[in-house]
Amino acid sequence: MITFKDLGLKPNIQTTLDELGFDKPTPIQEEAIPSLLDGHDVIGQAQTGTGKTAAFGLPLLQYLDPDNNEVQAIVLTPTRELCIQVTQALRSYAEHLDIEIVAVFGGAPIRSQQAQLRSGAHVVVATIGRIKDLISRRSMVLTAARFVVLDEADEMLDLGFLPDVESLLAKTPETRQTMLFSATLDNDVKVLIDRYLVNPVNHALDP
Ligand code: AMP
Repeated sequence: MITFKDLGLKPNIQTTLDELGFDKPTPIQEEAIPSLLDGHDVIGQAQTGTGKTAAFGLPLLQYLDPDNNEVQAIVLTPTRELCIQVTQALRSYAEHLDIEIVAVFGGAPIRSQQAQLRSGAHVVVATIGRIKDLISRRSMVLTAARFVVLDEADEMLDLGFLPDVESLLAKTPETRQTMLFSATLDNDVKVLIDRYLVNPVNHALDP
């Protein structure tokens, strides 16, 4: 039986997992975490409730540099509810790390999100419309975003966001590590994978 201790996460992350009572990785975590720690692009076919947030979140947190105040990672989500939920989860996983996680989503004042970005964000969890808006207002840049997570990619593309996701990816470094999580891999998701993931490792779980 694999435990989190076998995955080689840093002590400050392991402490948090112990405090949360996370002992064994879930199946998607057991598969995806080693691939992501090895630096591969990853496709995770997993639904909400499978532990997918920690599957991408823990490797991300492992590699972020707290001394670099640029936005090093972005997580794109289809809805503000998921954006808030992912932000809360990542903040709990970063409890013992000096990593700032900022949520940006529509339907909330943009000024307070701009202020949070100004005071420093290592990770930005975002809905598409709001992150586009903040970039066009020069409140954030993606030039140092070397980790990109597309969460619930199928939902995002069902909402018609393929061109926006493509233009956001084009603003990130070509050497980025890209992680795509999706319940299904239908046509538009395949387009995104073919164009933007490099030799991805595919972890498919039975629903
Ligand atoms: P998610 O699919 O990421 O939304 O996670 C679903 C729920 O499972 C959340 O409440 C997590 O806190 C919890 N969870 C994630 N990974 C583990 C784990 N390895 N052991 C126990 N609970 C977990």
